[in-house]
Amino acid sequence: QAKRMGGDRVEPFRPAFKTVGSGRLELESDLRRAFARRELSLAFQPIVRIATGEIAGFEALLRWEHPKRGMVSPAEFIPIAETSGLIVQLGQFALDEAVRRLSDWQRLPGRANLTVSVNISSRQLIRQDLVNDVKAVTKRYGLKPQTLKLELTESMVMDNPERSSQLLDKLRELGVGLSLDDFGTGYSSLSYLMRFPFDTLKIDQSFLAPDSQPQRPIIVQSIVSMANELGLSVVAEGVQTQEDVKRLKAMKCEYAQSFMFAPPLAPEEARRLLQERHQTLPKAS
Ligand code: C2E
Ligand code: MG
Ligand code: MG
Ligand code: MG
Repeated sequence: QAKRMGGDRVEPFRPAFKTVGSGRLELESDLRRAFARRELSLAFQPIVRIATGEIAGFEALLRWEHPKRGMVSPAEFIPIAETSGLIVQLGQFALDEAVRRLSDWQRLPGRANLTVSVNISSRQLIRQDLVNDVKAVTKRYGLKPQTLKLELTESMVMDNPERSSQLLDKLRELGVGLSLDDFGTGYSSLSYLMRFPFDTLKIDQSFLAPDSQPQRPIIVQSIVSMANELGLSVVAEGVQTQEDVKRLKAMKCEYAQSFMFAPPLAPEEARRLLQERHQTLPKAS
């Protein structure tokens, strides 16, 4: 079995592509052309400060509008980009575009400290010269590095702990934030992960699903308490009910990101939202 992420192994042939006549290879060559055809863009999902309902920042999420297939999910094309090496180009595009948009939005009144979070995949960590790319992009757009956050998952850090640790230390030296994405889906302990210089923890949405097991709230509570003790910011991903938002607020979970507050938005919509009102999203009472 191929490793889920990273490593240098070639993935085994997987015949299970849903759409007839457009297999992985076709999608890969389409993805190569997608840049030139301007089919790739970023959507921006608000990350909300639970106590006030304010937008603290956005997560930048890649979108691919395929001419025939319509929107292709990143869950489908990111793995293809990773095995084909296209992820480096994709990652550079996402980083540049996210920082470009953010630097524009930060000029809006009261928005100077708005953040943007950019997902980084394991192949990028291995191949892309992230440290120099981050340095260059923040300089290019005159961005305060603290307002840029990179999201990494525990599995990619655990795949290559030594190299990750070195790289993450260098990124922290530049001043950028580091978020641990999808926390709780891997098998590593928080205490082990704290050897790496993360400043934010994103609790995976599976812990906040309404049909989740009865012990889940206790797990969420203990993750939040531990993170707070360690001085980490916490983002609850995919929270779905007002009840849960209240609970999160009571446990001092500072941020939430979910369809309940706002879906990923086109950049123009995100900008409009920032301009319209200061507090735009439903406040947890
Ligand atoms: P992620 O980084 O964990 O991003 C959050 C995902 O959860 C997004 O899916 C978002 O649309 C979705 N989401 C947000 N709120 C809710 C909610 O209330 N309910 C549910 N069910 N889902 C919610 P999306 O945009 O489809 O992205 C999927 C994954 O693809 C991301 O998960 C990330 O791992 C990857 N990805 C997306 N953009 C990039 C990128 O630029 N680079 C890399 N390397 N990976 C990316
Ligand atoms: Mg993410
Ligand atoms: Mg996530
Ligand atoms: Mg995820």
